Amino acid sequence: MQKAAPPGARLVGSAAAVSAMVRREDGFVRLGPELGWVDQPLGEALADVIISTGVDLFPATRLRAPGAVPAQRQAPDDDLVDAVNGRTMPARRGPAGGGPGVPAGAGQGDLLDDEVPDTDDTGDTGGDATGGSDTGHDTGSDTGSDATRPLVQVRNNADLAALAEHARGAAVGCDNVVYLYGDAGVGGGIIAAGRPVTGHGGYGGEVGHMVVNPAGKPCSCGSHGCWETEIGEHALLTAAGRDPSSGREGILAVVDAAGRGDASAQAAVRQVGDWLGFGVANLVNIFNPEMVIFGGTLREVYLASAAQVRSRLNRNALPACREHVRLRTPVLGEDAALLGAAELAFEPLFADPLDFA
Ligand SMILES: [Zn+2]
Repeated sequence: MQKAAPPGARLVGSAAAVSAMVRREDGFVRLGPELGWVDQPLGEALADVIISTGVDLFPATRLRAPGAVPAQRQAPDDDLVDAVNGRTMPARRGPAGGGPGVPAGAGQGDLLDDEVPDTDDTGDTGGDATGGSDTGHDTGSDTGSDATRPLVQVRNNADLAALAEHARGAAVGCDNVVYLYGDAGVGGGIIAAGRPVTGHGGYGGEVGHMVVNPAGKPCSCGSHGCWETEIGEHALLTAAGRDPSSGREGILAVVDAAGRGDASAQAAVRQVGDWLGFGVANLVNIFNPEMVIFGGTLREVYLASAAQVRSRLNRNALPACREHVRLRTPVLGEDAALLGAAELAFEPLFADPLDFA
């Protein structure tokens, strides 16, 4: 970042996209099944990286910007800092105790006194996996005081892709949009009445974990029958009899085979398209969007199964909710999340340029 900036450049904002559930106030990753992350202070790690560059910060880019509510800080460990710096692959963190996907540090730092953590399978809400606690964290003078630390806005990648498509892509002029992003998992970014819908803590829009088949397959989140277990890459590849770990390349091969008349590929595409349509019908009933956008590998899946999706929508969604909805593919492609992060980073500057004079 610093290498790309001209000499004397000053930071006007910083934001990052990650495929995970992210606490809005400080960029703390609660759960990123695809990364294997549970309770990782990504925002803190990114702030440390920015501080280490020595870049000049405008006061408006600091942590205690108006409206920001700093949570108790937990120092990032070396593995995460290395991952952020691109020196290593992200460290994989399994939950300590509990079943798959149970956030080991649930409750850390953000539970109010009257909140009762979900302890039904472990009885342990400690933060063992992170080494953190409710009271102890090293803010160390070398990492900057709260008054000087940069505010790094970290968001879910689908939320940011939705933001970008709304601002500059397929959904310009649409105030009610559902953006779906598919890869190994399925994420959702929702714009309602022109504003992102991210929920109380920033964790909203996890449409991939909408339970559509209670008798279905286990999900990476610890539940069963989540939508992504029926429409994610793994589901299509398995249904088509392909290597379930072949990712985007495998999805493209299945879609291509279906287009050339391969019966098993066509059946797999129809099956996943059907499930895709079920979920879209639910989302259309809930949000009454003007547009649903299919991004990531869901773009290919949707294009190959548009008939199933539309058919399910017509059969299962309420006429009043569905009658004006447009089904689209992204304009900004794979760059959408990155562009959304840039939108977010520039927001304070655009909102009040005098703060940056
Ligand atoms: Zn799930």
